[in-house]
Amino acid sequence: MVELDQADVVIIGGGIVGCAAAYYLAKRNAKVILVEKGRIAGEQSSRAWGFVRIQGRDPDEVPLMVESNRIWRGLEAELEADIEWVQGGNLAIAKDDERAERFRDWLPIARSFGVETRVLTGTQVEGLIPGIKGPFTAGMYTSIDGHAEPGKATEAFAKAAREHGADIRTYTTAEGIDMAGGRVGGVFTDKGHIFADVVINAAGAHAAKLARLAGLSLPQRAVRATVAQTTPVKPVTSIGTWAPGVSFRQKRDGTFYLAGGASSIHDVTLESFRQARMFMPNYLKNRRIFQMNIGRELLHDVRRALPGSEAREHPFAHTVDVEPEPDRATAVESIKGFVELFPELYGQVKIRRMWAGMIDATPDAVPVIGEADELPGFIFATGFSGHGFAFGPIAGKLLSELVLDGRPSLDLHAFRFERFAEGDLAAPKNVL
Ligand SMILES: Cc1cc2nc3c(=O)[nH]c(=O)nc-3n(C[C@H](O)[C@H](O)[C@H](O)COP(=O)(O)OP(=O)(O)OC[C@H]3O[C@@H](n4cnc5c(N)ncnc54)[C@H](O)[C@@H]3O)c2cc1C
Repeated sequence: MVELDQADVVIIGGGIVGCAAAYYLAKRNAKVILVEKGRIAGEQSSRAWGFVRIQGRDPDEVPLMVESNRIWRGLEAELEADIEWVQGGNLAIAKDDERAERFRDWLPIARSFGVETRVLTGTQVEGLIPGIKGPFTAGMYTSIDGHAEPGKATEAFAKAAREHGADIRTYTTAEGIDMAGGRVGGVFTDKGHIFADVVINAAGAHAAKLARLAGLSLPQRAVRATVAQTTPVKPVTSIGTWAPGVSFRQKRDGTFYLAGGASSIHDVTLESFRQARMFMPNYLKNRRIFQMNIGRELLHDVRRALPGSEAREHPFAHTVDVEPEPDRATAVESIKGFVELFPELYGQVKIRRMWAGMIDATPDAVPVIGEADELPGFIFATGFSGHGFAFGPIAGKLLSELVLDGRPSLDLHAFRFERFAEGDLAAPKNVL
């Protein structure tokens, strides 16, 4: 007798969102198969800075983030893993009145969700982080925010999911969606067919291409962001900090992860010409930190679209184990910004290594979570727009509720896929 490769749910993507979903589903005894084209956390979910922050978010995201924060605080115990969680708070710093004003705009939002955020004077900011040097106009501080190590947290979810029976298959690529009968029937992978009535698209920066294989048009852009890690220094602060020009957090080993202000680069590809108008409000809001790069990536993409190209048959093969190129200028800018803030570390702290990752962004910079009306059984969990590490735990939990209970415990209306077709889009409403 031939045994069918069959599951209740197939999850495509082994980043934090897919692995958290696998964990929460398997914990409730669902038969889960997760396919990952490379290794677990090979893309964004090991490349992130690691901030887990409520403050400054789009108001629609806050209820989810409050709940995610609650999960994060107990996650090491729940997953029985060291994920370097530190509840050090998050501090945003302003050097001009316009940014300081945005901090004050956030306060009523925070209050309405029961989040305790304080707006600080420049002097209070200097009191909070030893050795930091102003002058600053203002600060905004939320003490329940924190940070963790992205790769470790994602691996921990994957391990716990496996322990609950999830079947996690690395180096297995989804290359098509089985849509026989007008609804999802499974996934075609490079290793064979898997039958399932539910498929979760948690494919990060590749989610739009995957959705297109299911006949769905998801507006999505990949934005290349660079991280620099410094050499270790004495313990300075446990606060994750967003200053103009540089953001940083100190790890347990004394090194800092730095993010530079001009770190958003869009490498133009054929995808860039799709639904371009939808991205205009977001582009205009961020144009000071956004760079367009027209070159190699576009040429490669055109070549891959030509008849007879291998990429037509295996559309994701060229994306396996790719190392995106970090932007040296951004790394240099971030270390310069850092030593300006901490002059006493000048000469002591250097860049030890740098890397980049491709952030998956939507036009309104909030994610897409939920089932597509047009294709029953096809669930989106993508477009986290640079916030998905923090969201991972709650996204996974809500996905399990959506699949197993038919409705999630928090309202996902603002994140529906259909909002793009409805034209219900505004410029991003996040403060940071
Ligand atoms: C430099 C950088 C810094 C960031 N900093 C932060 C931060 O401080 N805080 C925060 O909250 N967020 C941050 N983010 C964003 C965060 O990392 C992402 O939002 C989050 O990791 C998204 O998780 P994911 O599981 O949706 O996607 P990913 O981690 O990208 O995982 C998607 C997976 O799907 C796989 N896949 C794709 N297509 C297929 C296919 N066809 N078949 C099989 N597998 C497939 C990919 O290989 C990949 O592993 C940062 C991102 C970057 C790049």
